[in-house]
Amino acid sequence: SSAKQPKRISVLGATGSIGESTLDLVGRNPDDYEVIALTGNKNIARLAELAVQHGAKLAVTADAGSYKDLLLALAGTGIEVAAGPKALLDAASRPADWIMAAIVGVAGLRPTLRAVKQGTAVALANKECLVSGGEIFMREVARHGATLLPVDSEHSAARQAMTGTEPDKIESVCLTASGGPFRTWSVEQMAEAGPEQALKHPNWSMGAKVTIDSASLMNKGLELIEAHHLFALPPEKLCVLVHPQSIVHCLVQMTDGAVLAQLSCPDMRTPIAYSLAWPERMHVPNERIDLATLGSLTFEAPDPERFPALRLAKEVLDTGGGAGAVLNAANEVAVAAFLEKRLGFLGIAGLVETTLVDCADLIALTAETAEDVYEIDEEARRRARDRLPRWPGADAAN
Ligand code: NAD
Ligand code: MG
Repeated sequence: SSAKQPKRISVLGATGSIGESTLDLVGRNPDDYEVIALTGNKNIARLAELAVQHGAKLAVTADAGSYKDLLLALAGTGIEVAAGPKALLDAASRPADWIMAAIVGVAGLRPTLRAVKQGTAVALANKECLVSGGEIFMREVARHGATLLPVDSEHSAARQAMTGTEPDKIESVCLTASGGPFRTWSVEQMAEAGPEQALKHPNWSMGAKVTIDSASLMNKGLELIEAHHLFALPPEKLCVLVHPQSIVHCLVQMTDGAVLAQLSCPDMRTPIAYSLAWPERMHVPNERIDLATLGSLTFEAPDPERFPALRLAKEVLDTGGGAGAVLNAANEVAVAAFLEKRLGFLGIAGLVETTLVDCADLIALTAETAEDVYEIDEEARRRARDRLPRWPGADAAN
C-alpha cells in the first residue's frame, strides 16, 4: 500500500467522540492519509492540537467568536485558520477523497451537503441530517454521485451484511439497541433520573447528545428513520431488538430464510474503519470478541410503554413529510434542556410528543430544499422552547 497515493481526508466535528476515533485510526497509518480540513466548535485548544498532530492544511471553528483564539493557538504552524458558519462550509468544500461528517445535530446538515457536492466519499455519522432532511439529502447524494458510507454501528453492520445481496432479496433489517442505562428501570425510577444517571451508558462511550438519546431509545428511533433513507427500505421492513451486550449490531433477514449479522465489540473504531478503508479493510488493534468468555448473547423486544420515544419516532417514520425535522428539532431542544436540568427525563419524550401535536402544519409540508428543512427546524424549535417553561414539573426537574 506504500505505492498508493495517500487518501485526502477531512473531518467535520474533529473534536468530538467520532472525530477523535477517526483521527486515532488516521494517526496509526499516517502515510495512508493526507489531512486537509479539521473542524470543531468551542474546544479550540483540542482543535489546534489535532490540527498540528495530523498536519492539517486548514483548521476551522464553527464559533465565529473563537477566531482569535484559534489563530493564536496555531500561530507559526503554517496551518490556515478560519471561523464561522461560512468558513465551515468552505472546509467541507475543500477537495478531499473522503470526508467524515461527525458534527452533532442538524447543525451538520449544510456542511454535510457541501461535502456531498464534491461527489467523492462521505462517511456519515451525523444521523440528525438524515432524520431532518433525508429525502433532500439522498437526492443530493444521487445527483452528485457521492458515495455515502454509514458510520452508525448498526447501519455499518447492515451495509456489511447486505453487500452482495440484491435489494429485493432483503426481507427485513433489524437494528439492535443496548437498551441504555435504564433498560430495566421502572417509569417511576426514570422520572427521578438526571443527567448523571442518563450519561452512564453501559457499553458505549459517546458524545452527550447521542448518549441521552440512547437512554430514551430515541436514538434507535432516529436510526430507524436513518435506515429508511440510507437503504430505501419501507417502515414495515425495519425493526428493533434490544441486545444488552452490544455485540450483534444488526440482523439482515434474506428472502431465503438466511439471516446475516455483523458482530464486533462496542468500539466505534470498527465501523469508522470500515468507512475509512472502504472499499478495502484496515487493521484495527481493538478488542476482539471472545464468545466463549461472554457465554451468551441475549435479545428482548423493546418496551414501548417505558420508552415512548421509540414509538414516536416510528409514527414519524410512517408520517414522513416534515415530521422528521420536527421530531429532531424538538428532541434537540428537549435533550439540551434535560442536560441543563430544566426538564426531567420523562419530559424529553413528553416535550417531543406535544411539539409533534403542535406542529401538524409543519409536518404537512414537503421540504424541497435544505432551506425548507431549516425553516421547519427553526419553527419547531421555537414552539418546543415556548413550551419548555410551562412543562409540568419543569421547575422541579432534578
Ligand atoms: P460529540 O458531541 O462528541 O462531538 C460533536 C462534534 O460536533 C464536535 O467536534 C463539536 O465541536 C462539533 N459541533 C457541535 N456543535 C456544532 C455546531 N453548532 N456547528 C459545528 N460543529 C459543531 O458528538 P459525537 O458523539 O462524536 O457524535 C457525532 C455524531 O455522530 C452525532 O450525530 C451522533 O448521533 C453520531 N453518532 C455518534 C456515535 C458515537 O459513538 N459517539 C455513534 C453513532 C452515531
Ligand atoms: Mg448507533
